[in-house]
Amino acid sequence: METTTAAPISPSLPPTLECRNPATLERLGDVPIFSPEAVRERVKRARRAQQHWGRTTFAERRGVLQSLLDYIVRNQEEICRICSRDSGKTIVDAMMGEIFPVCEKLRYTIAHGEKDLATDKRPSGVLMHKAVRVEYHPLGVVGVLCPWNFPFHNVFCPVIPALMAGNAVVVKVSEWTSWSAADFQAMFDEVLVACGYDKDLVQIITGGAETGQALVQSGVEKIFFTGSPGNGKKVMVAAAETLTPVVLELGGKDPMIICDDADLDQAVGTAMLGVFTACGQMCVAAERLYVFDAVYDEFVRRVGQEARKLRQGPPTEDRGGDFDVGAMTMPRQLEIIERQVADAVHKGARTIAGGKRNAALAGQFWEPTVLIDVDHSMSIVHEETFGPVMTIVRVRDEDEAIRLANDCAYGLGSSVFTKDARRGERIAARISAGMTVINDYGLAYMMQSAPFGGVRISGFGRINGREGLRACCNEKTVVTDKLPIHQGMSFYPIKKATFPLLQNVISMIYGRGISTRINAVAGIARSLWRMR
Ligand code: NAD
Repeated sequence: METTTAAPISPSLPPTLECRNPATLERLGDVPIFSPEAVRERVKRARRAQQHWGRTTFAERRGVLQSLLDYIVRNQEEICRICSRDSGKTIVDAMMGEIFPVCEKLRYTIAHGEKDLATDKRPSGVLMHKAVRVEYHPLGVVGVLCPWNFPFHNVFCPVIPALMAGNAVVVKVSEWTSWSAADFQAMFDEVLVACGYDKDLVQIITGGAETGQALVQSGVEKIFFTGSPGNGKKVMVAAAETLTPVVLELGGKDPMIICDDADLDQAVGTAMLGVFTACGQMCVAAERLYVFDAVYDEFVRRVGQEARKLRQGPPTEDRGGDFDVGAMTMPRQLEIIERQVADAVHKGARTIAGGKRNAALAGQFWEPTVLIDVDHSMSIVHEETFGPVMTIVRVRDEDEAIRLANDCAYGLGSSVFTKDARRGERIAARISAGMTVINDYGLAYMMQSAPFGGVRISGFGRINGREGLRACCNEKTVVTDKLPIHQGMSFYPIKKATFPLLQNVISMIYGRGISTRINAVAGIARSLWRMR
């Protein structure tokens, strides 16, 4: 997709974004760029729709989510085609990365959402005469800012918990995958109207960074941003002006450690999946492989052989399974990969598969690449690549693997391959990341009961699981009387005996030793006698 340059945001003459199919460069059409006024208007409409939705029961919300799930299952192939057209990914990648996780999130939320959001009784501590509970109230309108790598999933996955928690949602899709916005809006409209609800509950808007910034500052109650660390910082700055809370799901540079006792068949197969799925355009792609010296040559030989066999082509010609690797969604990403690979090769790395743009194809294609003899002086181990490049570093042992895995500003996912379960646990415990998977990669995302998110520049806050559902709520504490022992008592005016009374209460509750406590009880009795 190409954006029209220098298009001013003007309510009188709405400018547009031009959309292209990245695999063929075919022009798909134009979508509107929402002005700040138009964004505020959409938020206003969402707020109106939320008034009723926020009072619905969990059973009613589940009904809408079940209808969405039924719709997706019925229309899965069409949705895959829409995603492939917009992003250039193969239809198998669309099925695995778009349909599967969205269906699983719907299943989880339908099955567990009510329990996760049920009022939670907590212990009242020393205030034994009181009861305390946490209630999970809707926030109101939630704003979502999406990247381009999963056009369907990136919209649906934040909307599902937001709706379950009783919110309305305004989603701004990426300027690089905007053509599908109208199709996805139509899906929500159809389901919401069929279930008897206002379609303004979920609204998808289009535009670039200015439209995104307008959403951040539109008065929404919370922003869920998924994107690059650089833009995450800008979103945080803009959100600071209105003190709008943000959840930042930023990039990743996931390490994959392959120990000398790894099952190599499994490690090779999973590494291929972790690197080449969705053409590597995944936040939890396996971007850095640390392979132990003892198995390095064999591992490299096998992945080189596998990578050279991969077939690449446009999804428009994919009848299902014709291609292994698709196109790059964003043209700039090709330049980033080109620069990183050139820097690595210049500093001594070698390509044993691919290594350049695929000139045989008209669209934005980078050949499936395997880069070996990589070290930490190269930019490719520090910057996100987000492409079909397997980057392999040779390591001596566990300590070196862990040290290098942690030598990175990102900290999203990670994985380790070993047949020794204790060794796997030991290494996992020392990797600094939001998630570690032993003997697999990226699967933590599919386990919708578990929180997902990063550390350091990979962001903060969590999506998925009860943490993700509760992140869409005002976690409200309510305190009630268990025993009405305060009746008739007044603290004011403060009396001379008040301070020693409090002192003795503190000693009685928190002091050490029986004699301290006995003395404190006597002191309390004296103070109460003086205060009567
Ligand atoms: P991006 O940061 O360029 O854009 C993300 C979204 O934010 C887009 O909709 C964009 O229009 C909008 N935006 C950009 N600047 C903005 C601003 N100043 N204010 C408000 N909105 C703004 O990211 P991208 O290039 O679309 O996506 C790729 C990045 O997303 C990668 O870094 C990738 O790792 C990351 N990502 C992270 C996760 C995760 O869960 N951690 C998932 C997918 C992608």
